[in-house]
Amino acid sequence: MERILEVNDLRVNFKVRGGTVQAVRGVNFHVNKGETVAIVGESGCGKSVTAQSLMRLVPSPPAVTTGSIRFKGEEILSKSKREMENIRGKEMGMIFQDPMTSLNPTLTIGKQITEGLVKHQNMSESAAKARAVEMLKLVGIPNPESRVNQYPHEFSGGMRQRAMIAIALACNPSLLIADEPTTALDVTVQAQIMGVLKDLQTKLGTSIILITHDLGVVADAADRVIVMYAGKVVESGKTRDIFKNPKHPYTRGLLRSVPRLDQKKDEPLIPIFGTPPDLIKPPAGCAFCARCDEAMRVCLPNDPVLVPVEGEGHTAACWLNHPLAGEGGESA
Ligand code: SF4
Repeated sequence: MERILEVNDLRVNFKVRGGTVQAVRGVNFHVNKGETVAIVGESGCGKSVTAQSLMRLVPSPPAVTTGSIRFKGEEILSKSKREMENIRGKEMGMIFQDPMTSLNPTLTIGKQITEGLVKHQNMSESAAKARAVEMLKLVGIPNPESRVNQYPHEFSGGMRQRAMIAIALACNPSLLIADEPTTALDVTVQAQIMGVLKDLQTKLGTSIILITHDLGVVADAADRVIVMYAGKVVESGKTRDIFKNPKHPYTRGLLRSVPRLDQKKDEPLIPIFGTPPDLIKPPAGCAFCARCDEAMRVCLPNDPVLVPVEGEGHTAACWLNHPLAGEGGESA
């Protein structure tokens, strides 16, 4: 399978008044052509910073990004500003949680779609306008011929998110990064937007990185899931394996905290107690230790690394997966 993105030992540090926040701490993953990979975790786990650093959108300073991000074989971290602008317009697209903050309120939706086409694809204004209408149709906006001339405030929340998708995909990028694309929407519209993304992916062959705090959203949408906690990947694998056979207590906690289709009527949702650790001084051992109800003595001083577990490509970083786990394992 063709890999379009390969991330190795990605680290992002932010200098703040109290020290250095280690927001991303040595993350490795890849994305294949036409695949959807979800990066999941609570807010502050480093998923959005990871996504933004793929497009070099993390402001530097204060951030320092190290490691390697290879996109279509080329190192993103050594690209110039101008090269990145080109890549962002043409090769990578991004959609955000709140389209109102990323759409320009003073330009029509059509203008916002055609801008990129004229700039990056050298299209004439009329060809770009025809493509804009086609894109609005593809994302399911009714009457695209007249809607193309309207402004963002004339669209509903769900329509604005569809328009954002149309803008991001107009130049047919190889990679779309969707950062909490449905969080601000109600459940029915969420499902519609995820359906639009899936349809377009099939039609255009785009790879998608879906960033979300809600594991419920990824069940039908993602091929693989990467679970992040305290700036690190703690589990990754095929979506089916993550849902059926989670191997990290944090993943199990995330699954218990969201509604599932197979959930019994009276089964309560259980939030994960406690808060993530301070990433100015991350703990030496397992960062989930203080919140983990399965913690053992080994967990407090020793940080587990990702190891292969049951399932193809399935890995988890938890001492419970060590062959000697349970033997003399007292509670922490
Ligand atoms: Fe819990 Fe220990 Fe596994 Fe960390 S390593 S998640 S503390 S059991």
